[in-house]
Amino acid sequence: MAFRCADDCLRCDFIGAGAGGGTAAGVLAEAGKRVLLLERGQSLSFEEVGRDHLRNQRLSQYGNNVGPDGEGNARLYQDFVGQYLVPPHDGRYQNNAATVGGGTRVFGAQAWRFMPQDFRMASEYGTPEGSSLADWPITYDDLAPYYERAEWEIGVCGHADAMQHLPAYARPYPMPPLPVNLQGRTLRQGAAALGWATNPVPLLINSMDYNNRPACIYCQHCVGFACPVDAKNGTQNTMITRALRTGNCTLVTGAMVERILVSDGGRVTGIAYHDPAGERMEVSADIVIVSAGAVESARLLLNSASRHEPNGLGNGGDQVGRHLQGHYYPGAIGLFPENVQDNVGPGVTTATCQFNHGNDGIVGGGMLADEFILLPIVLWKRKLPPDVPRWGAANKAFMRENYLRVADVTGPVHEIPSPDARVSVSTQMRDQYGIPIPHLSGTTHPETVRTAAFMHQRARQWLTASGAIKVWGNTPALYLSGGQHQAGTCRMGDDPQTSAVDRWGRVHGHDNLFVMDGSVHVTNGGFNPVLTIMALAFRAAEHIVQTW
Ligand SMILES: Cc1cc2nc3c(=O)[nH]c(=O)nc-3n(C[C@H](O)[C@H](O)[C@H](O)COP(=O)(O)OP(=O)(O)OC[C@H]3O[C@@H](n4cnc5c(N)ncnc54)[C@H](O)[C@@H]3O)c2cc1C
Repeated sequence: MAFRCADDCLRCDFIGAGAGGGTAAGVLAEAGKRVLLLERGQSLSFEEVGRDHLRNQRLSQYGNNVGPDGEGNARLYQDFVGQYLVPPHDGRYQNNAATVGGGTRVFGAQAWRFMPQDFRMASEYGTPEGSSLADWPITYDDLAPYYERAEWEIGVCGHADAMQHLPAYARPYPMPPLPVNLQGRTLRQGAAALGWATNPVPLLINSMDYNNRPACIYCQHCVGFACPVDAKNGTQNTMITRALRTGNCTLVTGAMVERILVSDGGRVTGIAYHDPAGERMEVSADIVIVSAGAVESARLLLNSASRHEPNGLGNGGDQVGRHLQGHYYPGAIGLFPENVQDNVGPGVTTATCQFNHGNDGIVGGGMLADEFILLPIVLWKRKLPPDVPRWGAANKAFMRENYLRVADVTGPVHEIPSPDARVSVSTQMRDQYGIPIPHLSGTTHPETVRTAAFMHQRARQWLTASGAIKVWGNTPALYLSGGQHQAGTCRMGDDPQTSAVDRWGRVHGHDNLFVMDGSVHVTNGGFNPVLTIMALAFRAAEHIVQTW
């Protein structure tokens, strides 16, 4: 069976309805293009996402709440010791999400712009030996109008004048920041004592009625869960809704794309996917847009090898799948003499961008912020002081007496990418559909560990200055990064020998194949990445509208 247009409009097949794919689908559908949006996951209601503290995208001890399913979707993970077949709820899997909205269905909604320096890391710092640190082919100024578009059309609350680490905004945020809670007020005092600048954390959350949906009710289950009043702005309730409203977009859920189809001449002609009933379908398209997230987008290009490109589409320079990065997320936890938690959600209110750049002897840096409200199980599992027993009466007493007295400061570090941190495809293992599975190997560059250690010390310093009587936490060691902030595997650039896509996300060697998701990031900034993914998708989709 084939998806066909009744007319001869431009047909765009999308793989993945996440942050990048959902945004671009909205732009193209509203421009009158015919869009087929294929998503392997389901469209999930608030109740279906649920509030299971042990099975969610924040703590996936026994499973995820927004996919992918545990059965039939394994990946291979390789480290210094061996090779392991890992399920989606294993940290080594590098999972984000598989549902309509992708990660944005349950994200924490931090909505950061990258800094101008983040787009020219090699020029700022040189290229550490063995790393693939490089400049982007575009600048902050190229992206600024699209950051603004994401902020207004998807909906961000924040305080533009407080973003002193960035050039002045052309237009403020559409909504004021959420109120500061007790943890934020405590940390602001500490930062002031240190002379550090702080700013409210910009969030893709309604702080007032916006886009016909209500304001946040400050609940304690934000990150990792769906919003009970739909005040959190993902693509599932903004750009995808807009796409569907045009009548130009068909969304098919439970549709797993197997490969991109090419003609005998090597031209992209459509895609093959497995429909919800398990039938293999082939659909034609004028344009194919890959937005499956950094691991799966690379997997798809590699699995679509053809006679013309035996190593995978756009992989003439052996770049597809390399430079996998995410974010090391160092931080520290502090115990205070009084309560510092008032349980006013989402919890994250206050950041410092004082250390994103300009740190003597360090490549890059990172942002630090207070943490979302910690579920008790998360404090117990990940954040207890090393000298507190993990079970028994002493453990219970610590939890009971101190749950509200603990504050957590943490943030993403600008990773220094390595070409050896990569996604390839297994030559032996296949998933439930018979598609070769991703094989993840390598580590980020060791310089990232030094930057993370530096930021860990800043977190400790902030907590101490804020009045903590005891501070703990670890410096991250070297490992493969990706996870929820996965990026970099189809990096953009002008040279096909050192990149996979051009500055518009167009795959080198193809005029009708694009990547629009975190894969195209050359480097991943010292900030959560989703607003950059959305801004790039707005920019690339608008370019298609203007040029086709
Ligand atoms: C709990 C959580 C908290 C987060 N908090 C933040 C935050 O506060 N701020 C921030 O910036 N970022 C945050 N993120 C990360 C953010 O969600 C991601 O950076 C973003 O969603 C990535 O966008 P993407 O377009 O690259 O991919 P995704 O959003 O992952 O979308 C990819 C989609 O493609 C689908 N897909 C994959 N392969 C196929 C296939 N073969 N066929 C069909 N469909 C396919 C997937 O199911 C998925 O829905 C968070 C993520 C999670 C899970």
